[in-house]
Amino acid sequence: MNLAKYPRVTLGHLPTPLEPLHRLSEELGGPRIWIKRDDCTGLATGGNKTRKLEFLMGEALELGADTILTQGATQSNHARQTAAAAARLGLTCHLLLEDRTGSDNADYNFNGNVLLDQLVGASISTRPGGSDMQKEMEELADRLKADGKRPYIIPGGGSNPVGALGYVNAAMELAYQANCMNLDIANIVHATGSTGTQGGLLAGLSMINSDIEVLGISVKAPKQVQEENVFDMARRTCDYMGIGDIVEREDVVVNSDYVGGGYGVPTDSMVEAVTMLARLEGILLDPVYSGKGMAGMIDQVRKGAFDADSNIVFIHTGGAAALSAYVDAFNLPGYVDM
Ligand SMILES: *Cc1c(COP(=O)(O)O)cnc(C)c1O
Repeated sequence: MNLAKYPRVTLGHLPTPLEPLHRLSEELGGPRIWIKRDDCTGLATGGNKTRKLEFLMGEALELGADTILTQGATQSNHARQTAAAAARLGLTCHLLLEDRTGSDNADYNFNGNVLLDQLVGASISTRPGGSDMQKEMEELADRLKADGKRPYIIPGGGSNPVGALGYVNAAMELAYQANCMNLDIANIVHATGSTGTQGGLLAGLSMINSDIEVLGISVKAPKQVQEENVFDMARRTCDYMGIGDIVEREDVVVNSDYVGGGYGVPTDSMVEAVTMLARLEGILLDPVYSGKGMAGMIDQVRKGAFDADSNIVFIHTGGAAALSAYVDAFNLPGYVDM
């Protein structure tokens, strides 16, 4: 497979590092845990959407777009990376942010990713929770076209077969790194939401005949629904690349036990995971995605789900830019008297 035949712009710092988590591995006493630093892709604090945007923005430029539209939750990492990519390419960017929580917390509404969206020059509008966000973007695109603009719509999370190519590429990148390091990886674990990451990874791993198992930790949808959606994304990505139906349904594994009260709602295990990684490894996770993903991995390790003598890789998909929007979730001690 030659990914270079697809339009693409360079946005990320790739390859991202693959590093051992010695202290976490020791603390948990299970398999050797590694981390793939996709939080270090570099675009306005980075994250997994940067990989997808290399291909999505490539297509946008090829189509002659001058305006980029996308949507997400208020604290969307995808929206922030899209806005930064647009800035870098000299394109106008408008973000539709869905108010999924109804929170009136000032940090949630204006700090974190929302601060960065505006700093990189995107304009932002909100829509009420439960809106048909794809339809909202299409209506806005129609209005912009009537004004003579050339809008390009990026779906939520950048998840379509074009965006998923970014994780086909990541699968090949990880396999190459592991081979260079003589590292036999048994499992990959990561947070799954809009499905482009897991769908792209599964398509890429099947394509190179890898037997690494992938476990997606859901941040929203129930297991069955998320597995079907990831399977669909993987198949459509294979179809887009013309490589046949090579992803099997049983390759698609999602665990939804760590969602808690819902999308973006903090859980005790997320707080524990974020705190552990910060204090054991100096690595910042986020409350919505990578914190819940890591909480799932830690719990699965404790339950003995992975062979103690194996290597497992957590893909850090980013998101720490949202931390400052969630100050209240972390019971921090504040100043002490010394
Ligand atoms: C979007 C996102 C995910 C989920 O990736 P999908 O491709 O949407 O499934 C995971 N972690 C972070 C930090 C994200 O922003």
